[in-house]
Amino acid sequence: MTITYVYQGKLYVNLTNRCPNACDFCLRTHGDGVGDADSLWLPQEPSREEILNDILRRNLTQFPQLVFCGYGEPTCRLEDMLWLCAKIRAVSDISIRVNTNGLSDLINGRTTAPEFDGLVDVVSISLNAPTPERYDEICHSQFGLQALPAILRFTRAVSFFVPQVVMSVVDRDLSELEIKECERLCLSAGAKFRVRHYIED
Ligand code: SF4
Repeated sequence: MTITYVYQGKLYVNLTNRCPNACDFCLRTHGDGVGDADSLWLPQEPSREEILNDILRRNLTQFPQLVFCGYGEPTCRLEDMLWLCAKIRAVSDISIRVNTNGLSDLINGRTTAPEFDGLVDVVSISLNAPTPERYDEICHSQFGLQALPAILRFTRAVSFFVPQVVMSVVDRDLSELEIKECERLCLSAGAKFRVRHYIED
């Protein structure tokens, strides 16, 4: 079972395969592994203690950043993820990043941004579409048209608690005009904007 893996020199943590979305471009539907991991499918979710042990068996000074990402949405295990951040903070000054779909509030049924305070250095949020309807077409979220407004609310809120907040789009399914509109939404939510190029298998 792959809990941690190295990708582009950073240490990634694979917490869960759960996700409320089924994005057209999701790596989960285009292969099994990323970086030095052959398979990121988890036969069962590891406990937070197992994850912590797996992280701490690595020499964290070798990595510029620890990234909660994996083959699923890390905020599906928000409490466990933030518990791990606190444990890592206690023993290392490694930068901690969370790659998320921004749906934490809807997944957890509460306002979650304040819980990130002091525990995370970077939040990278997938914006993916300029309107709720286009988001639904591309990301097929179980939250339907509620998803994009919730992502923008979470982005605005988490900017108060996390030093660096980035929103990104994948260039595969969007027109240039739509990417421009995504950039406007991102900047109005107080985040930095990044266009990611789609990775083919
Ligand atoms: S939000 Fe992320 S993990 Fe979930 S389906 Fe989309 S790309 Fe995959």
